Amino acid sequence: MKKLALIIPCFNEQEVLPVFYQAIDEISRKMNTYKFWFIFVDDGSSDHTLEILKKFSESDSRVTYLSFSKNFGKEAAIYAGLVNAVDEADYITVMDADMQDPPELLPEMVRYIEEEHYDSVATRRVSRKGEPPIRSFFARMFYRIMKKISDADMMDGARDYRLMTRNMAEAIVKMEEYNRFSKGLYGWVGFKTKWISFENVERAAGETKWSFWKLLKYSLEGIINFSSFPLKLSSWCGLFFTLVSVISIIFICVRKLLYGDPVSGWPSLACIIVFIGGVQLFCIGVLGQYLSKMYLEIKKRPHFIIRESNRDESIIRIS
Ligand code: UDP
Ligand code: MG
Repeated sequence: MKKLALIIPCFNEQEVLPVFYQAIDEISRKMNTYKFWFIFVDDGSSDHTLEILKKFSESDSRVTYLSFSKNFGKEAAIYAGLVNAVDEADYITVMDADMQDPPELLPEMVRYIEEEHYDSVATRRVSRKGEPPIRSFFARMFYRIMKKISDADMMDGARDYRLMTRNMAEAIVKMEEYNRFSKGLYGWVGFKTKWISFENVERAAGETKWSFWKLLKYSLEGIINFSSFPLKLSSWCGLFFTLVSVISIIFICVRKLLYGDPVSGWPSLACIIVFIGGVQLFCIGVLGQYLSKMYLEIKKRPHFIIRESNRDESIIRIS
């Protein structure tokens, strides 16, 4: 029997977990030719998430929980699930706890892998109904920009919800970078991926954990991690302004020689200095962003720290 692992990052999901558990339990009954393994990763929740997970694990041996020592973020939670699942599971799925990633899609996803020999089945939502319009607008823009400037191909509306073979999961786990951006990593490792679409589903209960600010920071992370375009842009900016200044110098010299005009107009000069200063600071800022990412990578800090789990101590990967 093939083993199918579900990795579920949970951060303050007490309202929705019972509903979610029921749903995956149901789907596991329908797909009874597979051995299911539910890996819940409690990402430092401050509500009763961990207690609920413990209760699940007491009555259900398929449930493993990994509880972090603090909130490390969804990416770390996914990574923790992957490193712990990859040696034992044949298929691995990453799925949100809030029912926005419909568990009913699982049979179809598995079928693509088994019958059509894909390595992974990824999902994207075709609509964003129920989402604030500004958020949709910026999300769309992000994907459009990413498509142009990055070499990891990213699909508009792509979700983290995907099913992959152990082979592909191993490739993902091997990328040990500290600044993780899953959607980019999936694209970067390649493999044959089937995309399936579904309509956006609203959260079953509880609230989204992503503020606009958090999302903006996350998308900047995506850009910096998967593209060196901002660096190129700043070099081009530098080159452009150097050219402009050379042309201006020639212009002023020629005018002085031909017409003997005194060089006048300090206000315009002041504007130019401020402008160029601004551009320089911006470019240094871009450089700094990459440097700070490098700093974090070099420190080699663990991606996550597990405080508590019901997984066997001899096999658990705790960081
Ligand atoms: N999540 C997490 N750590 C975080 C934020 C979110 O593990 O710091 C989990 C959350 O519990 C959920 C999934 O990531 O299972 C997606 O979060 P959410 O539904 O809030 O995001 P949205 O669907 O609104 O993008
Ligand atoms: Mg959600």
